[in-house]
Order: sequence, then structure tokens, then C-alpha cells
Amino acid sequence: MGVLSNKVDKSMLNKGDHIYSYRKAHLYSNHGIYVGEDRVIQYMSSSKSEGGCTNCEYDPNKLRGVVKTCLDCFLKGHSLYRFEYNVSSAHYVAKRSATCYTGSCNKPDIVVRRATKMLNNNGGNNLNLFAKNSVCFAVLCMTGNPNSAQEVAAKSKVKMTLEFLDVLSTLAAFIGLIDAQMDGDQNNEAAENDDVDESGGDVGGEDDEDEDGGEDDVDEDAGQ
Ligand SMILES: [Zn+2]
Repeated sequence: MGVLSNKVDKSMLNKGDHIYSYRKAHLYSNHGIYVGEDRVIQYMSSSKSEGGCTNCEYDPNKLRGVVKTCLDCFLKGHSLYRFEYNVSSAHYVAKRSATCYTGSCNKPDIVVRRATKMLNNNGGNNLNLFAKNSVCFAVLCMTGNPNSAQEVAAKSKVKMTLEFLDVLSTLAAFIGLIDAQMDGDQNNEAAENDDVDESGGDVGGEDDEDEDGGEDDVDEDAGQ
């Protein structure tokens, strides 16, 4: 655990890590979720039109919102840092904004699943307010908790407009849906780590409107 710096080497990354890098001489930071195999899911707001990446084929001119890129596209030549969770209050106060949080995060599988779902649905198109607040996207994926995202954002001096708070709660509901789907697949892993269940909890199977993914592990023993 780096006490002074969260700087890490690419080789130290684990799936489900919340990572960031600075832009414009530390004026602001760009955040994302490392999902393994050199790929990052992040919120991308603006294009700089240098053409598509030959590695991950991400083209900022064509695609914005929640995108998946290679690490190099994420870093753009800047250093790599890992956001810390479960830090002490003293640590939290002492560190610069958008580098750590006192709350806990969920397990990597859950984080990656949330980020992937957000990617596939572009956050339900509710992410446009996060243009310069990619940290909110990452914290939501990590914790599933809009209050956490709000707290981290507040320390980063994000203006808490009603619109912003509204988007946060919409996204939290979206994450709640993702988590509810996950409960079916992974039972109680989520509950074990953090109580993120304001939006539905782990009641388990109360509604099965769109079960799109259950085919692979539901009836293994049907083969006779
Ligand atoms: Zn790339």
C-alpha cells in the first residue's frame, strides 16, 4: 500500500481495479475500471480526433460515453494510479481529491460485471453529466452506492446540481438492476462484501421479467 502515492505499474493491476491518470499537469484526473487483458472501461466525454487506436480500435471520433479502450488509450502517455478504498479518515482528508475513499468496494467480479453492463447500455444514456467526472462512474461501479460517488465528487468540488444528483440516482437504480440480475448468477457474493442494497436488496428472484442469461447454468442435470 503506497502511503504517499497510489502510483502503480501496469504489471501490478488486477481485474476490477479502479484506476486513474492525470491530465493537464494534475489539473484533473481521468478514471476507469481495469477489466483485465489490457482493457479499461471508462467514461469518455470529448474527442481529440487523432484517429482510431491500432491496438484496441477505439476511435474517439466515433464513440463516446462508456467505452472500452486499451490501457495506452486510457493513459495517453501519463502515469498510472490506483484508487484506494477503505482508507482511514485521516488518510482521506490528507490525500488530494479523487484518489481514495473511506468506504469499501465490492468484489472484482461484481465491479467488472457492472462496468461491462454500463458499457453495453452506455449507462442507460445517463452519463452525459459525468463529462469531467469520470471518477463518479468508477466509484459507482466499485461501490454501487450513489452516496459514495457523491461524497467523492464533493471532495473533487463537483457542483451538486439537482440535475447531477438526479443522474446519480438514476444510475444507482440502473446498477441496482444489474446487481439484481447478478444475484441470480452468483448468489450472495455481493452481500458479503458491502451492504449496497438500498435499491432492492437480495430478496432473490422476486421478479423475473427478463432472464436473458440463465441458460448456461440452470439445468445442468437435465441431460437424460
Ligand atoms: Zn487503444
